[in-house]
Amino acid sequence: MEFEAIIGLEIHAQIATDTKMFCRCSNDSFGASPNINTCPVCMGFPGQLPVINKTAIEKGVVAALALNCSIPEYCKFDRKNYFYPDNPKGFQISQFDEPLSVKGFVEVELPERTLKVRITRLHLEDDAGKLTHVRNGSLLDFNRAGTPLMEIVTEPDLRSSEDAGTFAREVQKILRYVGASEADMEKGMMRFDASVSIRPKGEDKLYPRAEIKNLNSFKSLEAATAYEIQRQIDLWNEGKKPEGPTTVGWSDEKQQTYFLREKEESDDYRYFPEPDVPPLHIDRKMVEKFKKELPELPNLKRKRYMSELGLPHDDARILSGDLKLAQYFEEVVSLCKDAKKAASFINTILMKHLNEELISVDRQKVTAKMMAELIELVNSGDISNNTAKGEVFEEMYKTGKSPKAIVEKKGLKQVSDMGAIEKACKKVIEANPGPVADVKAGKEKAIGFLIGMVMKEMKGQANPQMVNEVIKKLL
Ligand SMILES: [Zn+2]
Repeated sequence: MEFEAIIGLEIHAQIATDTKMFCRCSNDSFGASPNINTCPVCMGFPGQLPVINKTAIEKGVVAALALNCSIPEYCKFDRKNYFYPDNPKGFQISQFDEPLSVKGFVEVELPERTLKVRITRLHLEDDAGKLTHVRNGSLLDFNRAGTPLMEIVTEPDLRSSEDAGTFAREVQKILRYVGASEADMEKGMMRFDASVSIRPKGEDKLYPRAEIKNLNSFKSLEAATAYEIQRQIDLWNEGKKPEGPTTVGWSDEKQQTYFLREKEESDDYRYFPEPDVPPLHIDRKMVEKFKKELPELPNLKRKRYMSELGLPHDDARILSGDLKLAQYFEEVVSLCKDAKKAASFINTILMKHLNEELISVDRQKVTAKMMAELIELVNSGDISNNTAKGEVFEEMYKTGKSPKAIVEKKGLKQVSDMGAIEKACKKVIEANPGPVADVKAGKEKAIGFLIGMVMKEMKGQANPQMVNEVIKKLL
């Protein structure tokens, strides 16, 4: 029997704010000592009074708009009741039946198709603290308690673990583009729950799903969903159809999912409206303003780079992957008017350094203007492509000096002077009768040798294309 996988995601992303969701504690505890950024509100003391962080709401609206969601005029917060040691309030403040936004979608242009995933909703909530289990007990850190989160829930539109990974990466890019979240997986700013079920191909029915909790990297997301799909197919083939929804965990170490509990339903949480936080009216003017201010998003950029600039899909994908990189690329193109070379120079030589050193494009010395100048030096025939990408670029990257200055100082300018090239060619032809005879006898390879000799004669500075033409003409 052939099966089809049905995958839906819940994505939790930390909203990029200075302070927490309902109090004034710092929202940046990376590397901080435990329990430094806490107060009675985020510690859940009795009688605490939460106050909504306006920036969190605004960034939530911006993220929702970037995911093509609509923003109802009113939304409210609700208590989601559950006990866990990292949640001293005994409830989480979330949004239940009137979320901040609903009904969006994300499209990702792939080489041969468009991946479209519908977004059910994006709502806001506060995060729990962090529990660390050590040998003799457990440690609690409430620095993370009260951190503003957005939860993005998708429809079960994904059909493979690869698509789940592709979609999740796209959401990360979108959130970063609009500045709603840094979405740094390494810092735990973005994590996924994935619901996975299977069904015989051709059926419309949905079977009970397994929800994989707390996946904290794209790699885990892909591996865990792939594992779970195969596990369910094996069970089905053994005649054991899943009976009810379950919640499972994922072990990166064993590369396996493991059973946690029967899946809890929303009734189990006894949601009720949060009495300490007023319902919100989301101003239409603000929504319209944010909509207008949205940048061109990654998928549109990708499509435009392919259709208008003629870039291959891979180049377009890499260059649109990060807003700063895309802006850098666009600036280089606007200066040198050569999109293909700009893509090639950035994607090969510059990206190699950025990836190795894990830095962003605005944290290195080669400005867009310098990059454009380097490309112009190649296009005008002053230096060869190899010299540009090698010696000149490396020096630019190291010192921040302009390519023209480097070419001048190191004497790298190609000689395009016809007289000088002809003179050198004649000399080489006279001195090498053997290879010359070979060329005349039709041995193409021998011409490479002669070009090499001329280049040597001219200390590597001759324009190789011109040398090639001159030798052919002379012979
Ligand atoms: Zn606090």
